Amino acid sequence: MPEFDVVILGGGSGGYACALRSAQLGLSVALIEADKVGGTCLHRGCIPTKALLHSAEIADGAREGARFGVKSSFDGIDMAGVNSYKDGVVSRLHKGLQGLVKSRSITYVEGHGTLTSKNTIEVNGEKYTGKNIVLATGSFAKTLPGLEIDGVQVITSDHGTRLDYVPKSVIVLGGGVIGCEFASVWKSFGSDVTIIEGLPRLIALEDESSSKQLERAFRKRGIKFELGVFFKSLTKNKKGVTVTLEDGKEFTADLLMVSVGRGPVSANLGYEAAGVTMDRGYVLVDDKCRTNVPGIWAVGDLIPTLQLAHVGFAEGMLVAEEIAGLNPRAINYDGIPRVTYSDPEVASVGLTTAEAKKRGHDIIELSYDLAGNGKAQILNTSGSIKLIAEKNGPILGVHMVGARVGELLAEAELIFNWEARADDVASLIHAHPTLSEAMGEAHMALAGKPLHAHG
Ligand SMILES: Cc1cc2nc3c(=O)[nH]c(=O)nc-3n(C[C@H](O)[C@H](O)[C@H](O)COP(=O)(O)OP(=O)(O)OC[C@H]3O[C@@H](n4cnc5c(N)ncnc54)[C@H](O)[C@@H]3O)c2cc1C
Repeated sequence: MPEFDVVILGGGSGGYACALRSAQLGLSVALIEADKVGGTCLHRGCIPTKALLHSAEIADGAREGARFGVKSSFDGIDMAGVNSYKDGVVSRLHKGLQGLVKSRSITYVEGHGTLTSKNTIEVNGEKYTGKNIVLATGSFAKTLPGLEIDGVQVITSDHGTRLDYVPKSVIVLGGGVIGCEFASVWKSFGSDVTIIEGLPRLIALEDESSSKQLERAFRKRGIKFELGVFFKSLTKNKKGVTVTLEDGKEFTADLLMVSVGRGPVSANLGYEAAGVTMDRGYVLVDDKCRTNVPGIWAVGDLIPTLQLAHVGFAEGMLVAEEIAGLNPRAINYDGIPRVTYSDPEVASVGLTTAEAKKRGHDIIELSYDLAGNGKAQILNTSGSIKLIAEKNGPILGVHMVGARVGELLAEAELIFNWEARADDVASLIHAHPTLSEAMGEAHMALAGKPLHAHG
């Protein structure tokens, strides 16, 4: 085998982005993937879950037609139909991605690879040597000690994206992003849903105000949750599962989905033997994704940065550009957009109030209620846009709750990353009636010239 400029282990968001950008920059690339190019995001993460959420939105639309004067009824979910729609989306994107990899003359290797030296990955006895090695083996769904995933009654999101029936009742263990998205889908599909979360609030990484609004909205939708209490034990029988919590409460359902976080895929892959510094299975890197071993890099869920596909893309491209000598700017992780695609959606960029205070910022805040926004009224959604700004300074954080607010993040991201001030944004004209108008209104209010804002 010839020596490559870059040998990449893992063809998920981080790995394939690195491969595509490296090839674009004229580097010779080998991309090694044990399963399917596209990884978690394409095959069992972002894309299938968002397809399920879209089916859920259609189901709610059918139920709520009368509210908008449309005669419609919800007659049930045909999971075969849902899965065929979802798999169609995944399959088209997978084919497109395979085509991209091929068209960039990347050497694509199918098989399970192991790092056998500082510059070599071995796959099925074959050695692939690179001037640079990029580790991108991603993450797996974790469980708790003593809580065995059987894939039938006790599942993870991997199984959740492939379920061929709608459970009558489901317990979701873990109220983070993945847990809340599945809870939202199943509620819309007609299941009785209970979320159990050990922390005191849902989506605990978000601003506290967003958690509170999501909890209120979920309560209104009939999604039940127990917060601030930990799982103790599980019993199963033919009828279903019973979960006992540490406070003694018991919950019974058809199905338990465990969504207690994702851990790095790094065991027995030769990383430690090659001298790569690790922490709890994560590979540690500097701000350019370099490990401590010269020539070995790591990206995506394998490193302890935000576990998001677009973070993997950004890190993969960063490494390619650094290897090619372009000296790219390091990633500002505060400026990464984050979305929970439940109904309602939760979206944010920048610092939370707690984080801004912790870092010593002297802040002012403003919350613009979507009740004052025409499009939000048309869509019959409620929620808000909360701004956090440095006193007489730039916007430090944007936190949104409501239908389709994920689509507003593009502007919020520019505002944060370009360090705009409230009056910079207030002078921009937003189209009426759009949800984006609420972004303009929030900044107008913060700049002291509210138009459609009460109080
Ligand atoms: C249910 C769910 C929903 C999600 N929704 C979103 C979302 O809406 N938006 C978002 O941004 N993120 C979302 N994510 C997170 C996103 O999927 C991950 O952040 C992203 O996939 C990480 O990319 P990665 O390349 O680091 O790892 P992965 O995508 O996990 O890819 C790693 C690849 O490496 C391969 N591999 C592992 N070990 C080896 C080996 N030894 N040899 C060869 N190949 C190997 C694996 O087969 C895999 O294909 C979601 C995740 C889940 C689970």
